[in-house]
Amino acid sequence: MQQNKIQKIVIVGGGFGGIKAALMLSKISSFEITLISDKPDFRYYPRLYHTATGGSSKESSILLSSLIEDRPIKLINSSVKSLDRVKKTIKTDKGELIHFDKLILALGVVTNYFGIPGLDEYSYGIKSNEQATRLKTHLHQTLIEDKKPDHHYVIIGAGPTGIELAGQLSFYLRDILKKHKIKNHKINVDLIEAAPRLLPAMPPSTSMAVGKRLIRIGVNLLVDHAVQAENIDSLTVNGKKLQSRTVVWTAGVTNSPFFKDNKFNLNEKGKVVVDEYFQAEDNIYVIGDNAASKYSGMAQTALSNALLVSNNIIRELSGKTLIKDVPKKPIAVIPAGKNWAAVVWGTVKIHGYLGWLLREAADLIAFHDLQPWWKAGAQWATEFQEDHKCPICDN
Ligand SMILES: Cc1cc2nc3c(=O)[nH]c(=O)nc-3n(C[C@H](O)[C@H](O)[C@H](O)COP(=O)(O)OP(=O)(O)OC[C@H]3O[C@@H](n4cnc5c(N)ncnc54)[C@H](O)[C@@H]3O)c2cc1C
Repeated sequence: MQQNKIQKIVIVGGGFGGIKAALMLSKISSFEITLISDKPDFRYYPRLYHTATGGSSKESSILLSSLIEDRPIKLINSSVKSLDRVKKTIKTDKGELIHFDKLILALGVVTNYFGIPGLDEYSYGIKSNEQATRLKTHLHQTLIEDKKPDHHYVIIGAGPTGIELAGQLSFYLRDILKKHKIKNHKINVDLIEAAPRLLPAMPPSTSMAVGKRLIRIGVNLLVDHAVQAENIDSLTVNGKKLQSRTVVWTAGVTNSPFFKDNKFNLNEKGKVVVDEYFQAEDNIYVIGDNAASKYSGMAQTALSNALLVSNNIIRELSGKTLIKDVPKKPIAVIPAGKNWAAVVWGTVKIHGYLGWLLREAADLIAFHDLQPWWKAGAQWATEFQEDHKCPICDN
């Protein structure tokens, strides 16, 4: 009997798309799977806002080695820099040269400050555990040093990430002010958005419901406000200065520079043009946030792209017809402070505690997408294990 030749499948990026594809393809013995990621962990972005506001860092980070466990996946911790299409190799920052028969690229996006002066230097972010911890430490540090809250706690960008953070921050600040025994001070949490309404990509009724909720829990909404510059203690917004040393930028991302550097065909937004099988070029697949697909930019999309590409690579092996992508609108679930979330599921819109319960269920399902139920359950429960409330205090 003729044995199938072993195919070398290289996957770059240990995020939603990359890890899902690696887990799926590792079930097939005639594939040799290599997963390359520049970080040792998988980042669960949807919980980073909570890690930044008193939650455990375990909520938003899982070691890749623990996710792949005893699967036949070779894990390499390096950053991929270049691609040789003729030799079918990729090169890493450490000089490793890795050959592939098929390549899946899922590198995610990077922060974009749109050239606004000062943001790169002075603003905070919540795109990684390190950034979330840096923000949390800053919140405590300034309270300890100044013995009063900052003039303004500013979040730029009223998309889902900005809303999650603003909602939770208003609760967390009240909590930690008490911890540091600071009384009788007003807290200003400002959410700034350049568009005329918050959540510009969602139905207007959802923007309205979320806006009312945020106002009720003490968040100031500044829509139609453009940020022009930041310096060490202030932000310029619509030409006026706002005093603040706590500015969090959630308003912009752009595609990984790898694709421009390696001359991929990009659309006007800088995303990689792919066909209905997520092939950018022969045997090179681009998925998740990198692909110019209809619902690119969400974890659910990255997972479903990975599933489609993996299934097609397996089908190709047995000579079956390939399946085309049918874009499915992801369910949007946006928490806005404790026990409240907005859900947009097709034409169904849910706002309030039921939305919060759906968000909890969505997190559990997302963890289970990558792990067995018992591990997913344990990961989900880390939400209730608060880290030291003050990362720089003795108690
Ligand atoms: C704060 C925040 C909250 C979010 N909340 C939600 C939500 O609630 N629901 C939702 O659906 N989506 C949410 N998203 C979006 C979602 O996280 C992304 O759409 C999803 O992560 C995309 O998956 P991906 O595999 O394309 O990229 P990622 O998950 O970003 O993974 C990319 C991986 O590639 C690695 N990498 C990058 N460059 C290289 C390189 N050169 N070499 C090797 N490795 C590299 C990165 O370190 C990372 O591990 C959120 C995003 C953020 C930032």
